Order: sequence, then C-alpha cells, then structure tokens
Amino acid sequence: MHQNGTRPNILEFSRESLAGVMAGLGEPKFRAGQLHRWLYSQQAISFASMSSIGAGLREKLSAAYEIRMPALLRSESDRQACDHDAEASTVKYLLRMPDGELVESVLIPSGERLTACVSSQSGCPLQCSFCATGQMGFSRNLHAFEMIGQAHALHHEALQRPGGRLTNIVFMGMGEPLLNLDNVFEAVSTLTNMDYRFGISEKRVTISTVGLIPGIERIADSGLRTKLAVSLHSADQQQREQLMPVTRQYPLDELGKAINGYNRKTGLPVTFVYMLLDRVNDSPEDAGKLARFARRFLCKINLIDYNPIVNFQFRPAYDDTRNAFVRQLLDAGLQVTVRKSQGAAINAACGQLATRPDPYGANPQ
Ligand code: SF4
Repeated sequence: MHQNGTRPNILEFSRESLAGVMAGLGEPKFRAGQLHRWLYSQQAISFASMSSIGAGLREKLSAAYEIRMPALLRSESDRQACDHDAEASTVKYLLRMPDGELVESVLIPSGERLTACVSSQSGCPLQCSFCATGQMGFSRNLHAFEMIGQAHALHHEALQRPGGRLTNIVFMGMGEPLLNLDNVFEAVSTLTNMDYRFGISEKRVTISTVGLIPGIERIADSGLRTKLAVSLHSADQQQREQLMPVTRQYPLDELGKAINGYNRKTGLPVTFVYMLLDRVNDSPEDAGKLARFARRFLCKINLIDYNPIVNFQFRPAYDDTRNAFVRQLLDAGLQVTVRKSQGAAINAACGQLATRPDPYGANPQ
C-alpha cells in the first residue's frame, strides 16, 4: 500500500505526456484524452468517479497515481472600498499548491467583466523595483494544473456572485509568465478548450510580460489568438532598466522589433501597460517618449495607477499630471485607457501580491 502523498500527482503530467502514462499502464493512447477530459472538463477529484473509464484502468490509476489539486485557503475582499457592493468588490484568494507553496489570485470586477488574475510563478526572480512579488524572491514555476486550478477556483467563486460568471483571464498575478511559457501554453490550451465544461475564448485571455523578447517571439509564432500585454512603464531605456532590471537584456529597440513581428504575424494589437509614478515617469517629456515609441505599433496604451506599498520609494501620479499625460497621448493619436487601481485596500492590486512576510510590510498576513 502506498502512503498518502507518495504517489505521483497525475495532474503534473501534460496532456501529451499522459499518453506515456497510459502506455506505461499497458493502455491505448486514446485513454489519455479521456483521462484529460475527466481531470479538466469534469474536474474529477477521484479516479473512482471517472465512470466512462473501465474499472480495471481506474484501479490501475488509483494504485499508481493520486489527484492532488490546489486548495483555496481564504479570501479577502475590498468590499469596504466598494461601499459594501458585493458585485463590485475585488477579491484576493490565497491558494495552497499540493507541495505547500502559497499563491495569490485575484477576482476583479469591471463593468460587465469579471476577470481572474492568475499567477504563473510562486514569487518572481525579476525584482522590479516597484513590485512586492519581486521583493519576496522566487520559489518555483507553477505547473499548468496549478494555473488552471486558480482559474477554476475563481470561476466557482464567480458563480457565487449574483449574475457572476468569469469572463476574462489575465496571466498577470505573481511571476513573469514568459519565464514559464511551456506551462502557460499548456494551461491556456486547456482553459480555452471549448469542448470542455470550462471553455473560454482565446480572445478573452491575456498574457502579460515585462518584455522578454524570446517569449514574445514564441507567442507570435504559436498561432494563439490570446492578447499580449507588455509592461513598458517607461520609453526611456535607462529609466526602464532602473524600474525593471531584466530589461538590460532586452533594449527598447530590440523590443520594438519583436513587437513589430508580433503585430505582423498575428494581426493583433499589443497593450502597453504604463504605471504612472509621481515624478519618475509622468512628465510631458516621458509622455512624448512614450508617444514616439508606441505610435510605430498596432497598440493600445493602458495607464495604471501605482499602488503604494509600505517602504517603497514610489508614489502614484497626481490626478492633474495623469490627465495631462493622457491628453498628450490622445493628441498623438494613440488609443489610451486609464485603469483606476482596484484591490489596493487588500494588497491585491498590480505589484502588490506577496504571500510571505517581507521587510516591506506588503504582506497582509
Ligand atoms: S512586476 Fe512582474 S515581472 Fe516584475 S517582479 Fe513583479 S511579478 Fe515579477
């Protein structure tokens, strides 16, 4: 007899490698597809419940493998910030992965949309200067099932809301998705399988990056119709490097070529995310640089607020400054949206996710 936890977790196998699992059990390949459907469409939590799979195979699977899913530990709502309007509140969830890693995901309402913000890594190795996740260090990449599990968990939570239904998924939580792209692709392909019970259109999925060029090129060549968001935060190379040290390896002119390639190959726009930081990147000169950089591309610009994190050196831009910045971009013919920060009260907003106590006091625990 195996002891609990000693058998491999079947969820760690990709769809493709499940064929090898079946071969190892002396079963034909097509059984892998059946098993995948049970795991990710039916979201079965035991082999015994997989009624279309013969009893013999179910026993073999139970003897050799386990199904260990992420568990939702607790949630925290910024309801107070939304005048107790349950439908409008942003909710942050803490999930425990099967090996004990803690990961945060966020459910964000916005008009008709209900978006699941999913983490792709536990922690992050990139240490962007404004980000609580980066400051907590890097633990590991998440498996595809751990990202799918976040989306499924938030989907079930969404269904509890009056009229609630998950409409969008963004890979923008903890971590840099393009450092874990194989698993992100695997997760996207399962989540967008329209034959599955939870099937969401690729167009409603966004993958975000700080601008890792090899990953952008892979996405451009992948045939995926997901959206791409590039966190720019500055169109000045030196300033970008100060905010996001990894961008030393990916200078703006090279990034520009990759984005051109993405536009050309996919026909899709890219969204440039730009966080306005008081007296750092919010001057008319900064807006001018951004306009000159962005207007070469098929793109939209999403201006976001900085969410103050205790002990970080940044502050959000003032309203007047933000308005002038927006006007300058609009005058340059760019498409601009301004996203007011949501979830800041519960440290669920951009750059605030962190699951461990840290010296910056960003952790709500
Ligand atoms: S902003 Fe994104 S890439 Fe940068 S440290 Fe935070 S999680 Fe990592």
